[in-house]
Amino acid sequence: MIAENIEKLNKRIENASKKAGRDPSEIKLLAVTKTHLLPIIEEAITHGIEYIGENRIQEAEQKIPFLKDKIREFHFIGHLQSNKINKLMKLEPALIHSIDKQSTARKLNEYLGELQKKQDVLIQVNTSAETSKFGIDPQETLSFVREIAKLENLQIMGLMTIGMFTSDETIIRKCFQTLHRLFEEIKQENIPGVKMKFLSMGMTDDFEIAIEEGANIIRIGSAIFGARNY
Ligand SMILES: *Cc1c(COP(=O)(O)O)cnc(C)c1O
Repeated sequence: MIAENIEKLNKRIENASKKAGRDPSEIKLLAVTKTHLLPIIEEAITHGIEYIGENRIQEAEQKIPFLKDKIREFHFIGHLQSNKINKLMKLEPALIHSIDKQSTARKLNEYLGELQKKQDVLIQVNTSAETSKFGIDPQETLSFVREIAKLENLQIMGLMTIGMFTSDETIIRKCFQTLHRLFEEIKQENIPGVKMKFLSMGMTDDFEIAIEEGANIIRIGSAIFGARNY
């Protein structure tokens, strides 16, 4: 089942890329493994999954150490709490998608200083204006990026968003366009220490729109592993 799901997903990614005039190889598929157990994740890895995303540190601790040498990268995509920074750093995430708070970013920077390490991060933007969602207001994103850029151990690599939960494609597309526009605007600013390389947007229900709007990391759970059972 997993093999078939991945095959279908790759076809969909290919089709969406073609439609957008893009090369599918420039799109990183991040398999979101939350709630799923090791054997099924390992099965996905044998069928070509190379990048794994988790959104809860406690859950990631149970799995990532066992997967580390079988994957290329582990990404943290969830809300980062400052009291869990040390636990997350032990898991050595290649990328943290979800920086959206100055105080947490400062603590992360300090902790990295102690470890003498640098960390690639994305800034999470709340493009849907839903109050239930984490992320920086689009209007405040540029100034937030400028502040975070001053933290010497954090390397900003791009932006991330979660599209609006709605069946209205126009609204979802607007979220992704907002993120892409910010991405280009920030790139133009040439802020020292800031690279606008990754645009992380699109999940199972909206990744095709995200690809059309320029995503180069898509975060996919259900289309690979089936519905989640909490
Ligand atoms: C769960 C999750 C996903 C994947 O969701 P699916 O709809 O199952 O593809 C993507 N991004 C984040 C931040 C998530 O928490």
